[in-house]
Amino acid sequence: MDLAIKYRVPPGTRVDLTQWRTDDAQGVDRDAAEARLAENIDALQKLQYRLYAEKKQSLLVVLQAMDTAGKDSTIRYVFGPLNPAGVRVKAFGRPTDYELSHDFLWRIHQHTPRQGFIQIFNRSHYEDVLVVRVNELVPESVWRERYDIINAFERSLCEARTRVVKIYLHLDKARQKEKLAERLTKPHKLWKFEMGDFDTRRKWDDYMRAYEDAITRCNTDHAPWHIVPTDRKWYRLLAVSEIVRAELERMDPKLPEPTIDRAEALRKLDEIG
Ligand code: AMP
Ligand code: MG
Repeated sequence: MDLAIKYRVPPGTRVDLTQWRTDDAQGVDRDAAEARLAENIDALQKLQYRLYAEKKQSLLVVLQAMDTAGKDSTIRYVFGPLNPAGVRVKAFGRPTDYELSHDFLWRIHQHTPRQGFIQIFNRSHYEDVLVVRVNELVPESVWRERYDIINAFERSLCEARTRVVKIYLHLDKARQKEKLAERLTKPHKLWKFEMGDFDTRRKWDDYMRAYEDAITRCNTDHAPWHIVPTDRKWYRLLAVSEIVRAELERMDPKLPEPTIDRAEALRKLDEIG
């Protein structure tokens, strides 16, 4: 079973999120998932080492989801074990007035990865066709144009050898209620909760429609979308690690060819002592 292919949104299809399970586990049990996750992390560490040394291409992982789906924990568990020297994480919250006085991609573009790096976006430019659309923060004529603008933007990243992998963590609505209740009852989780989260939850169906359109309109060959079942944390981590591993294996970074004469350098080292 290839989870990276299983959760890739088939190109050219219209996404109906009710047809995507949030609790799928493909018959994998928790122990097997955790063992495989450990293998994937080991592979990711080796791939990242080569990516960083090669410095010719980069990877951008976009994570989008409703509140409590597990974006933060996914970043911590899947990317936390990588070498922090080559990984950047950027969370996009409400834009500042200064950011809003630019085009919507301005604040995004500053955080795309340079060659050799892995960049993770916790929320992204997709908020500009999700929260912005649902709450009518700009006129429809403005957000409607954004799908094409996003596709062109991601295409230009691809031309610069930045692979873009997009992952939507698909959470069940009832499960979100449990997770919100947990945030409200566990003192150490309370800081993550805002009253505004209720407003978002109340508009759940509008968000699902906005996600369906964003995923459908921006699911390109150069920047594919994946829809990952998220109700079970251990399975979500497994699926995300599979997707990222498959992408880095496709990129196949290589250690740079040596530019020095090793024998000569070893002789020199002896000579210098
Ligand atoms: P969190 O990720 O829970 O810390 O919350 C960040 C908040 O910022 C969410 O409510 C997002 O919907 C909001 N946000 C992110 N990007 C934008 C945007 N472009 N316009 C408006 N709100 C945004
Ligand atoms: Mg929040």
